[in-house]
Formats: sequence, structure tokens, C-alpha cells
Amino acid sequence: MSRKQVFQFLDLPREMPKRIPLELRTSGDWGELYGKFGQAEAAHQSGRCLDCGNPYCSWKCPVHNAIPQWLQLVQENRILEAAELCHSTNPLPEVCGRVCPQDRLCEGSCTLNDGFGAVTIGAVEKYIVDTAFERGWRPDLSEVVPTGKRVAVIGAGPAGIGCADRLARAGIHAVVYDRYEQIGGLLQFGIPTFKLDKSVIATRREVLEGMGIEFRLGVEVGKDVAIEQLLEEYDAVFLGTGAYRYTDGGLPGQEAEGVLPALPFLVQNGRIVAGNDPWGRPIAGWEDKIKLPDLSGKRVVVLGGGDTGMDCVRSSIRLGAGKVTCAYRRDEASMPGSAREVGNAREEGVRFLFNRQPLAIEADAEGRATGVRVVETRLGEPDARGRRNAVPIEGSESVIEADVVIIAFGFSPEVPEWMQALGIEGTPNGRIVAGGADRLPYQTTHPRVFAGGDAVRGADLVVTAVAEGRDAAQGIAELLAVEAQPAEPATA
Ligand code: FAD
Ligand code: SF4
Repeated sequence: MSRKQVFQFLDLPREMPKRIPLELRTSGDWGELYGKFGQAEAAHQSGRCLDCGNPYCSWKCPVHNAIPQWLQLVQENRILEAAELCHSTNPLPEVCGRVCPQDRLCEGSCTLNDGFGAVTIGAVEKYIVDTAFERGWRPDLSEVVPTGKRVAVIGAGPAGIGCADRLARAGIHAVVYDRYEQIGGLLQFGIPTFKLDKSVIATRREVLEGMGIEFRLGVEVGKDVAIEQLLEEYDAVFLGTGAYRYTDGGLPGQEAEGVLPALPFLVQNGRIVAGNDPWGRPIAGWEDKIKLPDLSGKRVVVLGGGDTGMDCVRSSIRLGAGKVTCAYRRDEASMPGSAREVGNAREEGVRFLFNRQPLAIEADAEGRATGVRVVETRLGEPDARGRRNAVPIEGSESVIEADVVIIAFGFSPEVPEWMQALGIEGTPNGRIVAGGADRLPYQTTHPRVFAGGDAVRGADLVVTAVAEGRDAAQGIAELLAVEAQPAEPATA
């Protein structure tokens, strides 16, 4: 590499792909916010990589992508090889390139982040895979030798897809069951289109089916089919069932009209944006909450500062709300979501109130929400996980006026009865116990059942779910004594 090339970052600033203009976003445009690089832009941005020798970006990336190597391939316009390399570590690179909180992961640890602006790793990853798909590239499994083994994967979210992809590459036939009519899990029905266009999932489904993966959709395990039956029919089972236990916060007054749980709100928006019902089935237990209120001109307060909260505030803006406020009980630096998404929300007109802990929902005589009573907080001592607690400040109570309150406190997993009946153990907070000293990677307390993703970690990220599904496939392959695709980064 010439000296000029090494110092390209001095002449070329960090640049993201163009975004949909603000006036469209704030007047109801649900299109994917970031556009796509062309080859010249992708090569320029890739050329900013210093190739610093110690790729912190790769180590910080949960799937350990071979980032400097594929950035080099993009500069040389060797896109199909770059796509091959992306897939050697990541079964869903085009999705991660779009939705990973890169500022906390790969880009956050880029050497150039220190003053020059990180290489736009996620946008280049998206460029590579979208371009390769457009050119007809598909994973080449022609040398894979079928083992005759069969595995049932429960859950077609990122964890299940990550697992099925690696099983197929190891010659193991994967049959993926999901209770909904489409694949993707929260990618399909949780994450809004302005972060992830649903055509991306449709293309990925076609790719996965081309790899020989079979989907049985609209089938709920534990209801439509028993797991015991799957264990009879298959050599092993993978559980990628996600985290859906809603944390409602138990706020006094939360039964008031106008108070909504976050996920049904987002799901319903997804249906409206798609112009139809994405799965064709109602969400069990949530039917009465799923009617979308008319937000035009309304004051919306979203409680919670994670990815779900950000999706709710930005969806409210697109639905024409008059004033949108996000109230979070810690400070901005402690927000669990992506800083980039917070920046986008702020630009779209969302007001942030930090260090506000909700105490109760206020309502009028007709039972309609009128506001949220909050108390100001300061950060106290770190808890067991190292996060500083929010400590209420006495005498600092106030009311944030609201017509609609969206509760986005998060989700946690649970071990349902049908799993418990099989001897699958969970932790006290509902995570499936998987892996550990005497077990294979991601093996549960049932020897032929493995698990990964949000069901094991608790609600987290797409990329960590993909990583766990991928690595669980390795454990399954070990159990079935066939060699799986290596999970470590390959070199170009
Ligand atoms: P899921 O995606 O939840 O998939 C689980 C699947 O299992 C579902 O399809 C479900 O239908 C199926 N299932 C469950 N039980 C059964 C059963 N008994 N029978 C059949 N099927 C079953 N992460 C990011 O990295 N970036 C983001 O920007 C981001 N935004 C988010 C926004 C929202 C609103 C939410 C809720 C989450 C967001 N996340 C984001 C988190 C991310 O979506 C999850 O961490 C990830 O999807 C977890 O993958 P998973 O495969 O473990 O579970
Ligand atoms: Fe970055 Fe996520 Fe891609 Fe890893 S998978 S390189 S963390 S965008």
C-alpha cells in the first residue's frame, strides 16, 4: 500500500450514504432512511481503512467479521469475493450492515474513530451483499456432502436463521418452524421499515431456500406440533424462540385509554405500512391492544430509551404526532440503543428528557391518559452488571402532558411449559440455560436440544443472536459428529 493510500483518511472524510430528506421523513415516508453507496463511494470509504494491523473492529464485531480484508476487496472491485468472505462469518450480513449499533461495535472501535471519523463499515457491508445479490451471487454449497442428518429449528428469527445457515453448510438438513407466516422474527415484525426494508428479508428467504433450508411457517411448537414429536423425527432441535415477556413497569394508571405497549404498536404500524397483515394471524393475547390510535397532532410520550423506544418515537413522527417526547430514567450516555438512531430521532423532532423516572400515568375523569408523572433522577452506584442506578431526587416530581403513552421498557424471555416438560432448565429470570462446562456450545439441559439468541441472552441484538445461532450449529454438528463450517474469520 502506498503512503498516499495509507493516509487517504486525511483527504476523505467519513461519509454515510445519503438519507431520505427530513421533510419526507416527517411527513410520513417509511422508506429505509439510508440509501446505498455506488462502487466509487464504497471504494473511497473502504480506502479510508488504515489496515492498522490489530483490527479492533473485527474483535468488537460479535461475529468477528474479516472487516479489513473485505474493505480491501471492495477497493479492488472484487465484490463477489467480498460477499463470500462476509458470509464466512455472518449468515445475515446485509441485515447487520443495516441495523447493528455500529457506533457501539465495529465502528466504535475503529482506530480512526479517534478524531477522523470511523470507516463506514456497516454501510460497506450492506453495499457488498446487496450488490452481490443483484449480480446473482448465491452461496455455493456444491461441495457440501449431505450427512443424512436432520435438525428442527424452532424460530425463524436471526438466531434460527444463523443456525439453519450453518447446518446447511455442514450438510445437515434444517427444517425451520415459526408460528408466523413470514421468516425474520423481530426483523420482520418488530424493526420498522425505515431501518430495514422488508424486501431484504424476502431476498434472504429466497437465498436460504436455495441452500436447501425448509420453512414450515404458521406452525407453533407446543401448540400445533409437540416438541416430543420433533425429537422423534429429527436428530436434534434448536430453540431460537426469542424474548417476548413484556415488561410493563406496573405503573399506577397504566390501564388508561391511550396507553400502549410498544411491540403491538410497532407491529400494527408494520401492517399498515405493508398495506396488509404481514403474518395473517393475530398476536395471541394482544388483540384488544392492537388497534392503532390516530396520532395526528397528538402529544406522544414514549417511556424507555432502548432500540424499541427509538423505533416508537420515530414511528410516531411518521404517523403525524404533534409533539413526541422520549423520557428515559438515566442520562444520554447510558442509553442502551444506538447513538446514531438517537441522533436521527432528534433530527426528526423528538424531544428527549433524560433522568426522568415515570411514577404513574395521569388520566381524566373519562379514563383517558393526560400525562405521565415523573421524578428526576441522578446516577448512583453501579448495580451487579456495572450499570449505575437511577436514584430519584426528592421533591422533583412533575407531569409530562400526553394524549398517548407508549411503554417501551423491554422484553425478557421465558421457558414455556412445553420446554420445562422436557427437562429444559431456565434461569430465575427466564433465560434458557445453554452451554457451560459439561455441555457442548449452546446445548441445553436436554442433550439433543440446543438454544441461542434472545431466548438465552435476554433481549439483545440481531448480530449476537446470529452469532449464537451460528455457534450452536457447530455444537449440533459436534453432537452429530459431522464437521461444521469454521466460525472464525477467514482471510482473503
Ligand atoms: P426473534 O427475532 O424474536 O425470533 C424468534 C422467533 O421465534 C419469532 O419469529 C417467533 O415467532 C418464533 N417463535 C417463538 N416461539 C415459537 C414457537 N413456540 N413455535 C414457533 N415459533 C416460535 N437489534 C439490533 O441489532 N438492531 C436494532 O436496530 C434493533 N431494533 C429492535 C427494535 C425492536 C422494536 C425490537 C423489539 C428489537 C430490536 N432489536 C434490534 C433486537 C433484535 O431484533 C433481537 O435481539 C433479535 O431479533 C433476536 O433474534 P432471535 O432470533 O433470538 O429472536
Ligand atoms: Fe459491524 Fe455488525 Fe457488521 Fe459486525 S456484523 S461488522 S458489528 S455492522
